[in-house]
Amino acid sequence: MLTVTKKFEFEACHHLNDYEGACARKHGHTYKLEITLAGMPINNGMIIDFHTVKTVVQTHIINRLDHYDLNEIGDEWDEALFEQPTAENMVLWIVYVLTPIFLGYNCILHHVRLYETSNSHADWSRDCPMLENGQEAMEEPDEDLVL
Ligand SMILES: [Zn+2]
Repeated sequence: MLTVTKKFEFEACHHLNDYEGACARKHGHTYKLEITLAGMPINNGMIIDFHTVKTVVQTHIINRLDHYDLNEIGDEWDEALFEQPTAENMVLWIVYVLTPIFLGYNCILHHVRLYETSNSHADWSRDCPMLENGQEAMEEPDEDLVL
């Protein structure tokens, strides 16, 4: 399998609900995000232009999270994910948002990694049984996925 990966960084604050410990208090993180796409190099020898990846992720993810209080954002179904903005829930939201967009560029969102700290991260991979078809998941979010 051939993949390309681009890394991003953003700042945001959050707190965890129903949680005993320091993370119940509002605090900030410098999140690091890695987006990996799979495909064949059919466009000028590229799976997808890194510049396109940057534009898509910046527009649809980073601009919606950077310097926000994560507990305060979201609408409709994605609001539930941000009621408890763990790294896991944020990764699920990123997969929901990006999967159908990158299909439009003839490549497949293959892996998402989100670092909350330098030594703690959440991962999602295409072979993860849930969200096997991100587009269907986008149309009918599964309530069971929401913590
Ligand atoms: Zn935190």
